[in-house]
Amino acid sequence: MLRRALLAASASSRLRQLITTAPQARAVVARYVAGDTAGDAVRVTRSLQAAGLLVTLDYLGEDTKDPAQAAAVTDEYIQLAGKLGAEGLTRGGAAEVSVKPTAVGLFLGTRTAKANISRICAAAREAGTMVTLDAEEFAAIEPTLRIAAQLRAEYPDLGCVVQSCLRRSEADCRALAAYGIRVRLCKGAYDEPENVAFTARREVDSSYARCLRALMNGPGYPMLATHDPRLIQITAALALLTGRAADSFEYQMLYGIRPAEQRRLAGTGARMRVYLPYGGDWYAYLVRRLAERPRNLTFFLRSLGRDS
Ligand SMILES: Cc1cc2nc3c(=O)[nH]c(=O)nc-3n(C[C@H](O)[C@H](O)[C@H](O)COP(=O)(O)OP(=O)(O)OC[C@H]3O[C@@H](n4cnc5c(N)ncnc54)[C@H](O)[C@@H]3O)c2cc1C
Repeated sequence: MLRRALLAASASSRLRQLITTAPQARAVVARYVAGDTAGDAVRVTRSLQAAGLLVTLDYLGEDTKDPAQAAAVTDEYIQLAGKLGAEGLTRGGAAEVSVKPTAVGLFLGTRTAKANISRICAAAREAGTMVTLDAEEFAAIEPTLRIAAQLRAEYPDLGCVVQSCLRRSEADCRALAAYGIRVRLCKGAYDEPENVAFTARREVDSSYARCLRALMNGPGYPMLATHDPRLIQITAALALLTGRAADSFEYQMLYGIRPAEQRRLAGTGARMRVYLPYGGDWYAYLVRRLAERPRNLTFFLRSLGRDS
């Protein structure tokens, strides 16, 4: 209920103004975001990799309605890929990039988004790494999967994301697993209506387990993005049961969430990737993190109440 209300309130421009201009918000943001610049992101990537973690970098921003802005986001990713490659951080896919299709023009038309994503894929390849397309609101899912399927003819390592909260996702996982591709499975961070999504937590978790099974049984490369201890245990058990090698799948978690568990998993020899966002447009990302956990929201509101 609170999650729903918060996600709905996030569209309010007054709330955005209040949160983004509060000096105290920066301290909370710093828990989840590397910093404002690509230089900050590269510095944090280096320290995560030194701790044995893999990284996927996200330049914050979404829902672009301006072609120039979509082109600027694309250029940012191209420069980022170049920096990561030049610093030797992409070796063996140790750092890749995650792209939100609506940030590079999906709602301006799939042609624009496809052309921009293709440019990012080319730059990533040049830098020795790859791209994963994030999953966003329901209206973006079908066009995103279509673009991914089309671009995979040229970039077979282009990954995509499935949200277990969606009713369609189990079928999507079966189809995607059959083609042996990189698929990130997450629960889903958007508020979707009941006709397309499971809304009870228990149903979303069961759907995750079914999707997980489909991916782990297939010939693809599953990327299990969750902080949920039960689902992490189920993943480890399925890996044993299906005889998967440690390098044939990976765990993924968000920067700033369960860092000790991230290091523990990496210490077992598993591939563990951290999703690392950077950039000034952190508002929507922060609200989704607050919505996931009421305790985070209480902490955040208390910090706003403190004198700066
Ligand atoms: C690598 C990665 C990539 C993602 N990409 C996408 C995407 O493309 N599209 C999309 O819709 N969603 C994405 N998500 C977000 C995801 O859908 C969930 O909203 C988020 O991961 C919380 O779900 P959970 O699986 O951790 O389970 P939950 O049931 O929400 O949480 C399980 C436990 O994890 C811990 N936890 C979870 N969230 C927080 C938090 N914010 N702060 C502190 N502790 C927390 C708590 O201990 C909690 O009990 C991604 C998540 C990850 C990890």
